[in-house]
Amino acid sequence: MKRIPALLLLVFFFGACVHNKYASTNKSYKKQVKNYAKLLREYPVKDSAGLQYADNWVGTTNFSMRRPNFVIIHHTAQDSCEQTLRTFTLPRTAVSAHYVICEDGTVHHMLNDLLRAHHAGLGKWGSVSDMNSCSIGIEIDNNGSEPFTEPQMNSLLELLDRLKKAYNIPQANFIGHMDWAPGRKVDPSRYFSWQTLAEKGFGFWFDTTNVEVPVDFNALQALRIIGYNINKPEIAIQSYKIHFVPQDTTRIINDADKKILFDLEKKYQ
Ligand SMILES: [Zn+2]
Repeated sequence: MKRIPALLLLVFFFGACVHNKYASTNKSYKKQVKNYAKLLREYPVKDSAGLQYADNWVGTTNFSMRRPNFVIIHHTAQDSCEQTLRTFTLPRTAVSAHYVICEDGTVHHMLNDLLRAHHAGLGKWGSVSDMNSCSIGIEIDNNGSEPFTEPQMNSLLELLDRLKKAYNIPQANFIGHMDWAPGRKVDPSRYFSWQTLAEKGFGFWFDTTNVEVPVDFNALQALRIIGYNINKPEIAIQSYKIHFVPQDTTRIINDADKKILFDLEKKYQ
């Protein structure tokens, strides 16, 4: 009779251990959110322009939270979901994402969508120069040289659908990390099917049937119109190829690319 409660206690103890693996980092998350909530109540915010404001504060009654307007897709380049969860809970790594999608399709929602994750880094897309401030970051557990799993893609599509509806994200604004940071990043890899996403309304795909390219067509300007930073044309072309022509590992615009770009620039502009 005495052994049963002891066993139960043991099960409870180990159960609690597993459950609380991230207890201290969760506590840190909550503490940081609390500090930001305090910041939201401040007027004027201490780091704002520092002008001489009127003595009598008048707050508007009409406002809401800022919303994400882009989705950036990554592959983790790590060997397991567990490794990524660990990376994103170590302060010294200074990196994070809103969502991590494991190989089996499990989705970890690591950060409130309205807060800023550290996933995009330096880059440029169109006129956007601070992508972390206006985007949701999604990391897919994949080492970069293997196909993405079906459960993973299903979870991703369901998540994208929810995000698109919740924040009214334009179809053009679903891009990859390599689109944002050509040369510096190559994720998600050539195994990722952007065509599948475009068919569901996340990003655009091309149709070159009956496309006639004008003689004065400027392919680089088309890349710029789509969003690419063309300061270094070769690496912009490389990112475009990873996204739209994954089987082609060159950095050269050929006649087939011209047709694709001529069609795409109309969809993205
Ligand atoms: Zn990335």
